[in-house]
Amino acid sequence: MKYNPDENGYYGQFGGAFIPELLYPNVKEIEDNYIQIIESEEFQEEYKALLKDYVGRPSPLYLAKRLSEKYGATIYLKREDLNHTGAHKVNNTIGQILIAKKLGKTNIIAETGAGQHGVATATVCALMGLDCTVFMGEVDIERQAPNVARMRMLGAKIIPATSGSKTLKDATNEAIRYWIQNPETFYLIGSVVGPHPHPDMVARLQAIISEEMKWQLKEKTGKENPDTIIACVGGGSNAAGAFYHYLEDEEVELIAVEAAGLGVDSGESAATSQLGEVGVIHGSKTILMQDEYGQIVEPYSISAGLDYPGVGPLHAFLHDTKRAKFMNATDEEALQAAYELTKIEGIIPALETAHALAVLPKMDLKPDQTIVINLSGRGDKDLETYIKHLED
Ligand SMILES: *Cc1c(COP(=O)(O)O)cnc(C)c1O
Repeated sequence: MKYNPDENGYYGQFGGAFIPELLYPNVKEIEDNYIQIIESEEFQEEYKALLKDYVGRPSPLYLAKRLSEKYGATIYLKREDLNHTGAHKVNNTIGQILIAKKLGKTNIIAETGAGQHGVATATVCALMGLDCTVFMGEVDIERQAPNVARMRMLGAKIIPATSGSKTLKDATNEAIRYWIQNPETFYLIGSVVGPHPHPDMVARLQAIISEEMKWQLKEKTGKENPDTIIACVGGGSNAAGAFYHYLEDEEVELIAVEAAGLGVDSGESAATSQLGEVGVIHGSKTILMQDEYGQIVEPYSISAGLDYPGVGPLHAFLHDTKRAKFMNATDEEALQAAYELTKIEGIIPALETAHALAVLPKMDLKPDQTIVINLSGRGDKDLETYIKHLED
């Protein structure tokens, strides 16, 4: 497939594995085995059984009638918010924990920002009885107390990252540092980022989203393909999953929505495709927000899950080749979209997801247009933010 990485892990000019020598054998071991493991009957059986009985898949494809009426198009919501642990992230952690087990790894590490990936990782480690260490920025530990409590209850050890801005990027740096010192651990990365083969491995595990969309749409509309798919992008894993089986169906419009924070040109934003340039971050060549010296510019978004200074290499490629259209939404637009979905459909979305919903008013929609929005997660974790801004 044109959108798979080549043998060196490159999507066009993006990707690769920029790793220190010490990590090479560990990364090579994953690279040599991941596709064979994922495609094996044994893995597929175990993975699909857990997705069904533990996660609650297939996630419904819901025709949002009142939202459709409001925007004058046919809008479906892919309900990843109904998964166990409340978002798409568990699709990936279930898959990677099975791969780790096949490779004989017993010690799992992960990075987390808002704590969603940390919770999804701690959950599958509890499920499998494996040791779990989560790296998290000191600032995020304070901001995300409920998720920290969940991870502790699930048995994970939390290591605070105390460098830089003490947020996600710094937690990732700490996780990579630990990995270099302990190369036998399995680094369970939470998005389609990091050195090859992680971006491709995570994309293949999230691809279950579009695999289900195809047969669900066929059942409901008689056609496998919608006209448009919309997903929010932090690192890009829920978008990669929602796009995956449609990448080569060029007539399907793919829209990736980034967080504009206080506005793309405000200096407080995470709209990487607008502001970024080619560089290397966390082991991968991609587009990222950086200053003239190549130092990373701190990203900002009201949603912790979109607050990342880069995007995965697949998305850099989709942007470069114009296969996906990149749009963005500000904090305020996302908040309004979340209040709207809650009022007219009775669904409280995650703040990240609300960015995907927020582009509807900016689109030129047609009555016969079928749209799928990937509802990446639920809003329980964001209630405090929603209530605070309602009162403003
Ligand atoms: C983490 C998260 C995201 C952003 O991550 P991607 O890898 O870009 O998908 C989006 N939505 C929700 C609900 C999340 O928890």
